[in-house]
Amino acid sequence: MSTIDHPDFEAVIGLEVHAQLTTTTKAFAAVQYDYGEPPNTLVTPLCLGHPGTLPALNENLVRYTIRMGLATGCRIAPRSIFARKNYFYPDLPKGYQISQFETPLCSAGHLDIELPDYTKRIGITRIHMEEDSGKSIHDQDPLHSLIDLNRAGASLIEIVSEPDLRTPEEAYAYLNRIRQIVQYLEICDGNMEEGSLRCDANVSVRPRGQQAFGTRTELKNMNSFRNVERAIRFEIQRQIDLVRSGGRVVQQTLLWDPARNETRMMRGKEEAHDYRYFPEPDLPPVLVTQALLEQIRSELPEMPDLRRKRFRSAYGHSEDDAVTLTENRHLADFFEQVVVESGNPREATSLVLGQVLRVLNERGIGIAEFPVTAARLAGLIALRAADQVNSTAFQQIFNELLESEESAEEIARRLNLMQVSEDGFLAPIVAQVVADHPDEAARYREGKTALIGFFVGKVMQASGGKANPRQARELLQSALS
Ligand code: ADP
Ligand code: MG
Repeated sequence: MSTIDHPDFEAVIGLEVHAQLTTTTKAFAAVQYDYGEPPNTLVTPLCLGHPGTLPALNENLVRYTIRMGLATGCRIAPRSIFARKNYFYPDLPKGYQISQFETPLCSAGHLDIELPDYTKRIGITRIHMEEDSGKSIHDQDPLHSLIDLNRAGASLIEIVSEPDLRTPEEAYAYLNRIRQIVQYLEICDGNMEEGSLRCDANVSVRPRGQQAFGTRTELKNMNSFRNVERAIRFEIQRQIDLVRSGGRVVQQTLLWDPARNETRMMRGKEEAHDYRYFPEPDLPPVLVTQALLEQIRSELPEMPDLRRKRFRSAYGHSEDDAVTLTENRHLADFFEQVVVESGNPREATSLVLGQVLRVLNERGIGIAEFPVTAARLAGLIALRAADQVNSTAFQQIFNELLESEESAEEIARRLNLMQVSEDGFLAPIVAQVVADHPDEAARYREGKTALIGFFVGKVMQASGGKANPRQARELLQSALS
């Protein structure tokens, strides 16, 4: 899929991303939210909207939101208030959602996205705190919709971008960046399929060169990164086709239908929301002191950009390698553990980028589920660095590490893979191999030095794979000259 590269039109895209925070308890209720628990088991009278209940602010909701704000260069409001967003929906028993309206906790930030040919700074309008709604389930009962209120009141932030994005690829990169940042900050698991990261996309088109924005539509119901990109691509094309055939874009909310790969109408302008926001009377303003800000700032982890630069200079990584290794914080942490344990950044890099990532991809797991500790990998690196195993054995030992608890050295001994590199062992084999192949030896001496590979192969074979190939080559070269 390539980007829409229409000569006459340009797209304008702004994303509203909801990130569910990994705070232990909900935003205003002392109960834990977890995905996938039996319906309506993680609820208190407050989550059910019972009269007489009062919200109490979870301090970590504020701290996590500030982390996100600081990581994206936002201004943090010293005083911000909660607001009630009023609307009726069966999965919202209170009849309103506690959110922020006029004074979001964070505003005027930015983040940088990277595309194959350029990088670009995307403005972040605001990041505000809110509580989640429950979930309506429409596909379990043929006649009824079911309500699960476990999620009601879970802590959320909404991250609203400026309309700075221009292509589906940029939108994808932006979303990926948000996920990377929330994962580095350890405030959200970033899982779109489970709904812990959700994204609405606002899309409009305008003739190239025109300053004013066109009328936008809002796309919902995209539950994967790829679907966000697809839905935006589809919608841009639909709007361009519409405008070019003399029509006008109507402001409306559209649902992405992943089965049919198209957007369809959800509600039109006539139903546009009037949320009647007003200040939440049951919660005091949130006051953020300079001391709190400094404390949170000092606890921020090294963020991906800095880490990538550090990897490049500290370990001599190429840009691509550094990007891959820092993509995910846990992978970067693991890699650095292997470096510390082995003291060998070069081998640690090639092992993690090669074998380790291959296993993660094949098994569809994250580094957290990878069965081999950094220390055991370091043991393998040490064997290789000391030239005690050859590359075939290296691979074999790595595969064994995945299956057993033994150290690399124990495996090497058990499988008899320790390389024998004393001259006393190799020299007779080399002499025998040369004697057995007089024609090749003569041609080698006449200048066909490429035959050295043939001889090394014979020596490896004769030694049962235990010879050190580099040493075999050296001995052969002197025997043949
Ligand atoms: P609402 O509250 O109705 O969703 P906002 O003004 O908060 O509207 O904007 C929501 C999102 O829409 C923001 O991400 C913003 O960047 C984006 N946006 C605003 N105008 C346009 C436009 N004309 N085309 C595309 N995106 C837009
Ligand atoms: Mg909106």
